[in-house]
Amino acid sequence: MNPIFADLPTTVFEVMSRLARENDAVNLGQGFPDDPGPLDVRQKAADALINGWNQYPPMMGLPELRGAIAAHYRRWQGLDLDPDREIMVTSGATEALAGALLALIEPGDEVVLFEPMYDAYLPLVRRAGGIPKFVTLKPPHFRLTDEALAAAFSPRTRLALLNNPLNPTATIFPDEDLDLLASYCQRFDALCISDEVWEHVVFDGRRHTSIMARPGMRERTVKISSAGKIFSLTGWKVGFVMAAPHLMRVLSKAHQFLTFTTPPNLQVAAAHGLAKDDTYFEGMRADLQRSRDRFASGLSGLGLAVLPSAGTYFLNIDIGPLGEHDDVAFCERLVLKHGVAAIPVSAFYAARGVTNIVRFCFAKRDATLDAALERLSALSARGP
Ligand code: PMP
Ligand code: GLN
Repeated sequence: MNPIFADLPTTVFEVMSRLARENDAVNLGQGFPDDPGPLDVRQKAADALINGWNQYPPMMGLPELRGAIAAHYRRWQGLDLDPDREIMVTSGATEALAGALLALIEPGDEVVLFEPMYDAYLPLVRRAGGIPKFVTLKPPHFRLTDEALAAAFSPRTRLALLNNPLNPTATIFPDEDLDLLASYCQRFDALCISDEVWEHVVFDGRRHTSIMARPGMRERTVKISSAGKIFSLTGWKVGFVMAAPHLMRVLSKAHQFLTFTTPPNLQVAAAHGLAKDDTYFEGMRADLQRSRDRFASGLSGLGLAVLPSAGTYFLNIDIGPLGEHDDVAFCERLVLKHGVAAIPVSAFYAARGVTNIVRFCFAKRDATLDAALERLSALSARGP
């Protein structure tokens, strides 16, 4: 068997959700909202399931969805995308990532990865034959620096894999950092896969910038998005990939033998949702921001050290002040003894580089957050 997968533990999100179920815990681990998602979008999917086409859609995605994606990103991010040659629909961002890495990496190519990184990245890069070159981002701002990029890029760099906004730190790279990375991609003739699944989940009046829209990056970027995050429907697994035609030609070859297509009823509904007006997007952000603030102030009130959250469904605490230095052991005790599931952020590092940060998902009803806070109030100054 292939050792990359044979030696891999089960993903922390699955492990924590299972522990939460077994221990009747409040699950603030895996990132999914309590909110059931917009009713009109779900109704559209239901209607398409009953009355619509349920056979294979075109492998690049329904034309109506690709058209809606082009219009959506023109309106929100100033991108000019050709729906026929530069957009592809996948079964979630996960398929998009796997396909892009398989399609673009040749064995021995170097791939620049930024830690902390989403847990799927490293095994997929390795399986594609890529050699990881890590840039470890430093708290509290997790910025890109010239020094770190200079150490990571080389003439063998094939691509950089960026996640912006960044899960799990809940930070957003400023345009200045995107331009710095862009300059390295150009200097070393490298591509950028930009995982932007959290692009709409940004707070305090922020607006997302895609690296694809920065100077020199239009032809070098593979932008990846997810309807799951845009519509609070994480189980849907409808992803979007955007890239220039010379890249898309190859990306589509990987997609055709991974999943080939994505359920057509969900595509019809995603097309409807992308055309929703600003009120939906602003409302979604405002609701999540309110939950963030409620949970953050509850945690601070318990004396916990809360780190800021500029976007995503997540906020982090530093368990160092509790005298704790092992996030995995802490999270195990939290779920087993206190009935609250969270994610140890060391799962986002290749070698457990950081072990004092714990991630909570706040995209929950007030009652869920309050129940978690009530349980967390049992944490003494020395931790659970
Ligand atoms: N990338 C990042 C950074 C994520 O946080 C997630 C899941 N939340 C994904 C990719 C996977 O997205 P999907 O569920 O659309 O496959
Ligand atoms: N992206 C989600 C998170 O970070 C989980 C996705 C998954 O379960 N694989 O929590």
